[in-house]
Amino acid sequence: MNLILMGLPGAGKGTQAEKINRKYNIPHISTGDMFRLAIKEGTDLGMKAKEYMDQGDLVPDEVTIGIVKERLSKADCVNGFLLDGFPRTIAQAEALQQLLTDLNRSIDYVLHVDVPEEKLVERLTGRRICPTCGTTYHVVYNPPKQEGVCDNDGSKLIQRDDDQPETVKKRLSVNIEQTQPLLDFYQDKGYLLKVDGDRDIEVVFQDIQTILEK
Ligand SMILES: [Zn+2]
Repeated sequence: MNLILMGLPGAGKGTQAEKINRKYNIPHISTGDMFRLAIKEGTDLGMKAKEYMDQGDLVPDEVTIGIVKERLSKADCVNGFLLDGFPRTIAQAEALQQLLTDLNRSIDYVLHVDVPEEKLVERLTGRRICPTCGTTYHVVYNPPKQEGVCDNDGSKLIQRDDDQPETVKKRLSVNIEQTQPLLDFYQDKGYLLKVDGDRDIEVVFQDIQTILEK
């Protein structure tokens, strides 16, 4: 089962990826993990990527694609893979098509965990963190027993700068702009399946299982 998972920040993509990974035993491959592994293993491409990253530059597509190819050729991908955070651009999506053809494989599904933008804003801005123990709360979905105070140690909870409404809205609009062309690309190819992510985690996962086991 060769899958790509797509969704905006706060859509619960990471949670669903972990569940898919555990249930179907296919590796969850995020871009960050993939780079870290290539660098740790000291592959030529990993070293090239590191040079760019050390200088604060974007890693060029040809290097990224090479690292994806190395990763997808590993033994643990023999029964499939779950790509998360890649591809990010149409150029990368096209390169991935070619790469999979070279590996004699193809994409089965592109799962889009879809949550309305206003719900994402609510999810992301409601996050509160304990500065002492690091526990994460949510004002609506996972509130502490006493408002604004950590259950564990009584510390006053804080809202990270990243979770302020203006920052969240900006991050989402950048992501929407980036993601929409990819959704269109996969829609045209007939791979795209939308999953309503605005529901309980288990219900969303149930839907995903139904799709995958069809
Ligand atoms: Zn705490």
